[in-house]
Amino acid sequence: MTDPGPGYRGRFAPSPTGPLHFGSLVAAVGSYLEAKASAGEWHLRMEDVDAPRCSMVAATAILHALEACGLAWDGEVVWQSRRVDAYAAALESLKKVDRVFPCACTRRELADSAIAADGAAIYPGTCREGLAPGRAARAWRLRVGDARVVFDDAIQGRIESDLGREAGDFILLRADGLYAYQLAVVVDDAAAGITHVVRGADLLASSPRQIFLQQCLGVPTPAYAHLPVAVNAAGEKLSKQTRAAPLDIARPGPAMLAALEFLGQRPPPGLSAATVQDILAWAVTNWQLVRVPRGPALRTEFCPEGKGSTP
Ligand code: GLU
Repeated sequence: MTDPGPGYRGRFAPSPTGPLHFGSLVAAVGSYLEAKASAGEWHLRMEDVDAPRCSMVAATAILHALEACGLAWDGEVVWQSRRVDAYAAALESLKKVDRVFPCACTRRELADSAIAADGAAIYPGTCREGLAPGRAARAWRLRVGDARVVFDDAIQGRIESDLGREAGDFILLRADGLYAYQLAVVVDDAAAGITHVVRGADLLASSPRQIFLQQCLGVPTPAYAHLPVAVNAAGEKLSKQTRAAPLDIARPGPAMLAALEFLGQRPPPGLSAATVQDILAWAVTNWQLVRVPRGPALRTEFCPEGKGSTP
């Protein structure tokens, strides 16, 4: 694993597209505990760069839910919507060294392309050597070439990616004028001096892209640990789309304990009537990353479909 240097700085980076549910609580709890058990800082970033999908109502609900769970963040909340200048500067620096190129392709023109793990089209290279006459730039893409990325994930083990084949030249500035998640996350993690990224394994396929982009921008690569993602009985990731229940912030204890169980920690039965502060105090002292189950997904029975049931 890359040596992140002294001082642990972790983060939780929710996208405010809906309230915190059990799946996102697992990422919050896992990243918090790994930071605090390492005597580190835990920062909070609202990933509202994709403004049309995000809302202030959801962001406020997430902040309240984290507070109700006793998950206190260090420093100020970073809002991606306020960091567009930093993303623009990063893209400019990549333009200067010809690491990016303008792309005129429409979604329909890319419809026959192979699909990457995140659902995006693997770019066939149409505009890589220049725009065809009469075509206007819609998006900006990173030149990936035949880059390979290898890293050791603290939970999922060694990850090797043939980026050219698995992701292709990916988008940094979208046709709708918004900066892509991949660029925003790399710029923000670097600006915040994040040394450790602990997040859901649904983002595992993004990590090689982010590491390659870090190399292109000349910023450090943090250490990675990808937690299993909570899925419902149908194998679907808990999300707003799969009707995952918002966290019951009036009674967060059961969800906190379920998150600890999910992460392979073994909270004693005596904690079932404890406050979230006591639950967290136990969890920080007893947290062991090696107990987190390895694997991309894990089934949970905890409020999987918004029925409000608690174990
Ligand atoms: N905003 C992303 C999400 O909510 C997480 C990004 C990250 O942790 O790098 O899925």
